[in-house]
Formats: sequence, structure tokens, C-alpha cells
Amino acid sequence: MLIYCNQEKLKELLLTVSETTHSRFYVDLHGSVLKPESSPEETVSYFQKLPPLTRADISKSHPDSRLYIPKKDVSFVSYTSGTTDGSPLVLYWSPVENYFFEPSIGTSSRTPLILHPALNKNFGHTFIQQCRQANTPVTPVFADFQNLTHSAILASQTHADGIYTTPTLAQLIADQIDKHYDSEKIKLLALFSESLTLQKRENLKKRYPNAEIANLYASSEVGQILFYPCKRMIDEQSNEFHFLDEAIIALELSDEGELILTMNQNKAFPLIRYRTGDFFEVKNKNTQGQMCSCGLTTPILSWSGRMDVDKLRLNGVEIRVEDIEIAMVQCKGEIQDSYQLHFYPIENSDSIRIIVEVLESDFVKNLPTFGKIELQEKIKSALMRSWHLTATATLETAVQKGIFAVPEIQFVSEFSLKTIKSRKIVNHIV
Ligand SMILES: [Zn+2]
Repeated sequence: MLIYCNQEKLKELLLTVSETTHSRFYVDLHGSVLKPESSPEETVSYFQKLPPLTRADISKSHPDSRLYIPKKDVSFVSYTSGTTDGSPLVLYWSPVENYFFEPSIGTSSRTPLILHPALNKNFGHTFIQQCRQANTPVTPVFADFQNLTHSAILASQTHADGIYTTPTLAQLIADQIDKHYDSEKIKLLALFSESLTLQKRENLKKRYPNAEIANLYASSEVGQILFYPCKRMIDEQSNEFHFLDEAIIALELSDEGELILTMNQNKAFPLIRYRTGDFFEVKNKNTQGQMCSCGLTTPILSWSGRMDVDKLRLNGVEIRVEDIEIAMVQCKGEIQDSYQLHFYPIENSDSIRIIVEVLESDFVKNLPTFGKIELQEKIKSALMRSWHLTATATLETAVQKGIFAVPEIQFVSEFSLKTIKSRKIVNHIV
């Protein structure tokens, strides 16, 4: 489904990759070229039939073979290690005239502390450009996500009033901020690269009482923050987004809701129908020119997760972290947010085994044996009765149908999958 398209820029991009002598990457991938005399309707229809670009298409090709500008004009090169398929990704970048992003996100924050792996490594200097070319310029303070104490001292000395980070790092640095600075001085938490669940929002609101929480969407293949909330969305604490239409040529959602982007911000390697692996829904198609209270009339998107990280599809059932969190609220007093669900195949059976790993906090450790058994039963029953896999079916229903086995609860000193980003669900079924 085509959600947004700038037809003029689309035609220009498709002709460029059809006619250029720099690279044959898209001509080979598409198996065709766009004819210069095509009408706008023909261009859009040609475009929508093109095979999408996957992360694997990029990582398996040599960066030189997909370079669309002379090598001397490459501004910098980024390297990211894969999160899902594990293969590294090397990307060439051109200078970008305007990123169209406003780092203050409509808040009063003017000195954000930058504590984010991608911004601390590859994209620091392009983010400085974004901060300085904004209508409301801000002064970024580059911290170190691997040294939270120094970062908190830096925040204090520079009077930082915002933090650009991930939900997990925001939570991790809170103690240091309290010790070396003052968490009440933080007016903006700009969070991305992880799902911002209700539980995480709630925890962060407690740690940073004066902060407006802005949930953003970015990707290292895109190289910039692309989706952002307006004031209404921040106030409502929704997971809705506006998108930077000036930076995007076409935005599509697949039938399953996967975001497919076409962009030419990076002239060194434009993205044509890039499958991001991130899932969204259209909240408001704005077909009648409906307006958000901020004045924008473009469609509003809402986050529905990253495949394999925030949701899984198993035996035709959709497993969503959000649904699990709602069920687990009942056990929050005992286990907080410290659990991880693992899904395993069962030999000679179509049924799926669920193991719930629960971190052994001091509270759990000090429970007598029967107390531990009681707690295991409480977690099991919360999942069985309150985890809704569909509008009508709970886990209990799915267990009765043989789709899943009754979950097993294990107390562990550490999760069997440790990652820099927090993970609630882990799929072991291939
Ligand atoms: Zn708005």
C-alpha cells in the first residue's frame, strides 16, 4: 500500500538509476529500467512492481558495486553489524544538504546529551549538521554510551537538558545522573532503536519526572531519524509518528505492515523500496485532508514492532511483547520487568514449548521454597489467563488447542540471551 509518494522526485530517482554509468546495482536487481517518456501514472505503476530491496541484497553485494557517485565525492563510510541476520553492512554516504529533522522536537530542550551507539559511532557528525541546520538550532553534547559515569558528569558540566538515547540506556544512566547531576533538569528524552513499551515509559517517567518522552524511529540504513511525534503525540504518550515527508520519496506498507522506504537523501546509495524489517500501521489515512492538532495532514503511523524482536509469528499466532507485558503486570510487584520468554520446538510435535526465564532478584532469592513455587504458579496463571493471543483467545485456549505447551517458569541468575538492547521474546524455532 502506497502511503506517501512524491511523484516528481520518484521519476527523477528512477531515471537516475536507470541511466547512470556509476552502478548497475538497481538495473540488475530490478531487471528493467524506467523509460524517460513515462507518464506519472506509468512511473508509479512501474515503481510498485519493482522487487523490494532487502538487507541481504545490500550486505551480499560489494559496496563499490552499489556506489552511485564518484568515489572521491563519498563523504564517509559507515559500518554496522547486523542485528537479525548477523552480517555486517558497509555503506557509502554522500553529503546531505538538508535532513529536515528538528532535534528539539518542539520541546524547550536546547542542549541534548548524545548517548546512543549509532550517534556516538558512525553518525555523530551528520547529527551535528542536523542540530545546527534546524529551525531551532540545538547544541549536542557527545557522551559515551560505554562510560555512563563520565557521561553523567559531562551532562552536569554542560547543563544538558535532554538525552538522545535508547530506552535501556536512559534507564541505565538514571542512577549516575541522580548522583552527578539532577534528573529533574532533563526536559526531553528522545528515544529510539528499541520498542518503547508502556512499562518502559512508566519506569522512565519516574526516573525523569520533568522529561517529555519522544519516541523516534531511525534506521542505520537510512542514516537519520525519520519519524517523530508532535506535541499532541508526546502528551498522549502514544506510539504514533509523523514522518519527514521532505526527506522521503515514497513510503509503503506491505500487506503485513512492513515499512518499505524509497529515499534519495544519500546520493551515494539511494534506497528504492527498501524493506526495513520494521512494522507500522496507518492510524489515520487523512484521505479527506484530516488534520492532526499540530496542523499536519500527512498520514499518521503507529509502531507495531520489529519482527523477531518485538513480535514473532509461530504456528499462525502472533506473539507480541505488548500483549505479554499486559498479562505480566499482575506479577510486577514480585519480578518487575525482569523476564524473557523463549520459544522452543518440541520433538515430534507441532506444539511449542515456552520457557519463561525470570531474573533471580534479592526478593526472589530470599523467598522460601514454597514461596518460589507460589510465584511460579502466579506467573504461569497470569500468562495462561491474561495473555491474549487474539481478541478472543488467551494462552490457555491456545494450550487447549495444542498450539503451545503450558509455560515453564525458571529462575535464572542471568538471561540465556544477553543483548545490548532489551529482549523479551526469543525464538528458537527455525
Ligand atoms: Zn501532529
